[in-house]
Amino acid sequence: MTETLFREDAYLQSCEATVTGVSERGVVLNRSVFYPQGGGQPGDRGVLETRDGRRVVISDTLKGDQGDIVHVPHPDTPPLSVGEQVNATVDWERRYRHMRMHTCLHLLCSLVDAGVTGGAVGSDRGRLDFDLPEATLDKADLSEALNGLIARDLPVLARWISAQTLAERPELVRTMSVQPPMDQGDVRLIDITSVDLQPCGGTHVARTGEIGPVVVSKIEKKSRHNRRVVVRFVG
Ligand SMILES: [Zn+2]
Repeated sequence: MTETLFREDAYLQSCEATVTGVSERGVVLNRSVFYPQGGGQPGDRGVLETRDGRRVVISDTLKGDQGDIVHVPHPDTPPLSVGEQVNATVDWERRYRHMRMHTCLHLLCSLVDAGVTGGAVGSDRGRLDFDLPEATLDKADLSEALNGLIARDLPVLARWISAQTLAERPELVRTMSVQPPMDQGDVRLIDITSVDLQPCGGTHVARTGEIGPVVVSKIEKKSRHNRRVVVRFVG
């Protein structure tokens, strides 16, 4: 099981780690700052550097078995062996954009009174799909409301509650397609004070002001019960 350092501190860009597994899928470390693909957020890219200066470029990060995080090496990079010490560094520019967009989607979620049926975080844009049969959403209104919440520079906090407490408050689970992360019966909640509270295992910025200006660039009807809202960074 890999210790998930990004869950305690999403701003950690690198860490020292030991290789605990090597397979056809990739490299497993005892601890990692690399976020594995999940919850609509892409897996991190970056580099693992050995003590003797070999650089293994990581092109994706995935969830493995039993809590392992699998770092997928680029095909043309040198092999690693179990027991080796590495310095693991994420492609921070890309990851930070994911953190900003991911947090922005929490704000978007709070502005639309409908269930979420899917979503995706990207470096330039993000989207949420809502179970919304009526065309009630307006691009300009949503853009203004989102930028208003961003400008308030609200704190984004993570805390844990028991699975039982969560079960008693089913309204907290907004994202129907994503299983919230569990740790020994506890569930991780992301709390944007007075705006949004929901279980989530992704990486977020510390304050909404870090998201920067955004625009709702598209609202499209994907099916009778599915309306897709696309958000982009401005500039
Ligand atoms: Zn989240």
